[in-house]
Amino acid sequence: MFSPSVQDYAKAVFALEDRAGAAVSTNDLAERLGVTPGSASGMVRKLAEQGLLEHVPYRGVRLTAEGRRLALQVIRRHRLIELFLAEALEMPWDRVHAEAEVLEHALSEELEHLIAERLGHPEVDPHGDPIPSADFQLSGPDTISLAELAENTRARFVRVSDSDPEKLRYLAAQEIALGAVVEVIGREPFGGPLQVSHEGKQHALGEQLARAMRVALLAEEES
Ligand SMILES: [Zn+2]
Repeated sequence: MFSPSVQDYAKAVFALEDRAGAAVSTNDLAERLGVTPGSASGMVRKLAEQGLLEHVPYRGVRLTAEGRRLALQVIRRHRLIELFLAEALEMPWDRVHAEAEVLEHALSEELEHLIAERLGHPEVDPHGDPIPSADFQLSGPDTISLAELAENTRARFVRVSDSDPEKLRYLAAQEIALGAVVEVIGREPFGGPLQVSHEGKQHALGEQLARAMRVALLAEEES
């Protein structure tokens, strides 16, 4: 069993590696986790000793196969818990992340299995993030951020960052849910809002919000 903080570091390295497609620097890791570079390098040493991380000379660190498995297991539990809270307990989508951050470290393998079974072995969590399979495979659809969507193109809103509950509450208040078909109909200059139409209604969505939203282009027959 690895400690909760070791699990959090493995998860953070996984996310940064995934985004950059390269080794991760201790500074980036410290920034993501909100700790000092000194404490991040202490933890990096610890994870390396436990065989979870390896050093890439002059670049930083990357996960070993075992570290990757650990990260994917924690991510799987996190996303299953989020979905369970949302579906079984009807907890709103802006609140499940904070609960899952804590519970992901406490879930037993048996409970993980029971939840997955009860939910019918789901593929995505309430924010559209893909749930790694029990054998640690992770795949998701190709998406782009809504901010990058070309004007007058319709796309399906399929995924949203779960890190900012306020953005999620805002979207819920606008009744823009996952699965919605959206179209960018205009863009204000200088990083201003995007004019988006959704079910005949127009919304001005701020640049930061549009960056947090991921969309998938519609297949030919849908558009
Ligand atoms: Zn989450």
